[in-house]
Amino acid sequence: AEASPRAEKPRVLLMGARRSGKSSIQKVVFHKMSPHETLFIEATNKIVKNDIANSSFVQFEVWDFPGHVDTSSAAVKPESTYGSCGALVWVIDAQDDHAEAISRLQQTIVTAHRINPQIVFEVFIHKVDSLPDDQRIETQREIQNQLSDELATARLSHAKVNFHLTSIYDHSVFEAFSKVVQQLIPQLPTLQSLLDVLVTSCRIEKAFLFDVVSKIYVATDSSPVDMQSYELCADMIDAVSDVSSIYGGEEGAGFTAPESNCVITLSNRTAIYLREANRSLALVCIVSESVLTQQGLLEYNFGCFREALAELFRVPV
Ligand code: GDP
Repeated sequence: AEASPRAEKPRVLLMGARRSGKSSIQKVVFHKMSPHETLFIEATNKIVKNDIANSSFVQFEVWDFPGHVDTSSAAVKPESTYGSCGALVWVIDAQDDHAEAISRLQQTIVTAHRINPQIVFEVFIHKVDSLPDDQRIETQREIQNQLSDELATARLSHAKVNFHLTSIYDHSVFEAFSKVVQQLIPQLPTLQSLLDVLVTSCRIEKAFLFDVVSKIYVATDSSPVDMQSYELCADMIDAVSDVSSIYGGEEGAGFTAPESNCVITLSNRTAIYLREANRSLALVCIVSESVLTQQGLLEYNFGCFREALAELFRVPV
């Protein structure tokens, strides 16, 4: 149990057909590329092992497999590839014909599951910005049904498969990646309880713990997440890290000020409150304005939270 958390990086694999959007997702989520710039990304032709920035809390790798590599064959060294991998993200272009993508996914699940039954398969039904709302749900249902038929035929109905509707043009891809990453953090239940305690003692409406570099949220309190609160809080991260990198230099290194702390007041008597939690994580909360007048209470409880967090991950605060 004394092993350093860095030694056991959870690994995420990113796979899918050529042009399905893998490189774009990776660039937008982890390298702050703007969605429009992805139009000019060159096609991926080799396996790219992408070690997510070291300053990021989430220590995992995205393996970008070029679309023509058969991910169920020996070419991908399945034993080592799937053996220690926590999640496999499979990107399907929602605009494309799905039949081939689904059959390749099914073959990959067969291979990967045999080697590593713990692996979770996360299907990103991607580029849904191009579909009207009702058609998104319909597309998901179709893909889900076809895949479950194929898995039933392969006697693999027990493989764990989750579906997400994603687009790089809104927050959905960050939200989906958050869910993927959260499953790979063994400390998640503890983090959630810590956030619940914080929320109750300070009368916070919603709290997210964000990885600053990727804007993935690592945990939140147990009240339901609505997309709008998540977007507000994610935008807050952008606003603060832009300012912080202007003043602090070193881009992509998270916040550089010793302890970033920022409040933005909204029109409806609520505010968004950001506190740096450690070098790579920030707490972003939605609170009513009245709560912010109780600085002592906030300071005290936030201090407790930071200490517990440091203890949990044994990293210097
Ligand atoms: P890869 O071969 O799987 O790495 O695919 P790329 O990342 O190169 O993406 C292929 C094309 O899809 C690019 O022109 C991207 O701009 C486009 N693309 C990626 N994600 C999205 C998305 O969410 N929505 C839309 N409309 N286009 C996307």
